Amino acid sequence: MSDLPPTGVASAVLHSAVLEWYAQHGRDLPWRDPECTPWGIYLSEVMSQQTPVARVLPVWERWLERWPTPAALAADSPGEAVRMWDRLGYPRRALRLWESARAMVERHDGQVPRDHEDLLALPGVGTYTAAAVASFAFQDPRTVVDTNVRRVLARTVSGTQHAAPALTAAEMRLATASMPPDRDRANLWNAASMELGALVCTARTPRCGECPVAHLCAWQLAGRPAHEGPVRRGQAWHGTDRQVRGRIVQLLRESPDPVSRSDITAVWPDDESKLERCLAALVDDGLVEPRDSGRFALPS
Ligand code: SF4
Repeated sequence: MSDLPPTGVASAVLHSAVLEWYAQHGRDLPWRDPECTPWGIYLSEVMSQQTPVARVLPVWERWLERWPTPAALAADSPGEAVRMWDRLGYPRRALRLWESARAMVERHDGQVPRDHEDLLALPGVGTYTAAAVASFAFQDPRTVVDTNVRRVLARTVSGTQHAAPALTAAEMRLATASMPPDRDRANLWNAASMELGALVCTARTPRCGECPVAHLCAWQLAGRPAHEGPVRRGQAWHGTDRQVRGRIVQLLRESPDPVSRSDITAVWPDDESKLERCLAALVDDGLVEPRDSGRFALPS
């Protein structure tokens, strides 16, 4: 997709079809419960980035049970946040959550801030998270754009199979122009269009036969033209630095005491220089702390 003005916007009839579908088929997730606190919603948004909901759910429940408020998390150690992150991946998110909990205590009386600019100023919070928390926790209808929403808009409105590899300014304008004008419907649209992308309009095998907007979808109506851009590949995992870093963090997470250098070597014995590089990166990121006698632990 080029950085051109959008060719069209979602219509009222598209909004109605997606919202009706969502009312019937949206998943009953605990962070969608009206009783869920802004803190619970905030945690769910950070955890759900890059991690499927089924894996997030048990960790989210354990976090809220242990740390029901930002103050409770801030009073614990960052290492415990990393330990409780379990295997959600990208554990820097756990550290940023701990830092943002501390910032909420220091700057916002221990509350998730309502103001969009205040949200954006929290550690680890980017455009997506700030908009999602503003919309879902505080009913401030910001434009929420994740990969699911981008894909739904690319297909239904722009008539292309895939969105651009990275979010463009044109897509952001399209997404904003595609929001329902009514405030409540706009907040629902944020959740519903995301859910449609997660459950029906999936990346590889969209279920067009079950889709509530198949009769309105520009890509479908154009005969599902093939994607013309570069071939899209999933992220590699085996043998990557990410895998090695994951193993090191897992070892430390499962060890009540600091571990020795040889214990760390044992998690990836085949490539000493890769292990060295990954351990150094983890220390740089603050996810691993060197201790006395050449031992290592999660941050205290
Ligand atoms: S018809 Fe197919 S491609 Fe279009 S929105 Fe529905 S699932 Fe996606």
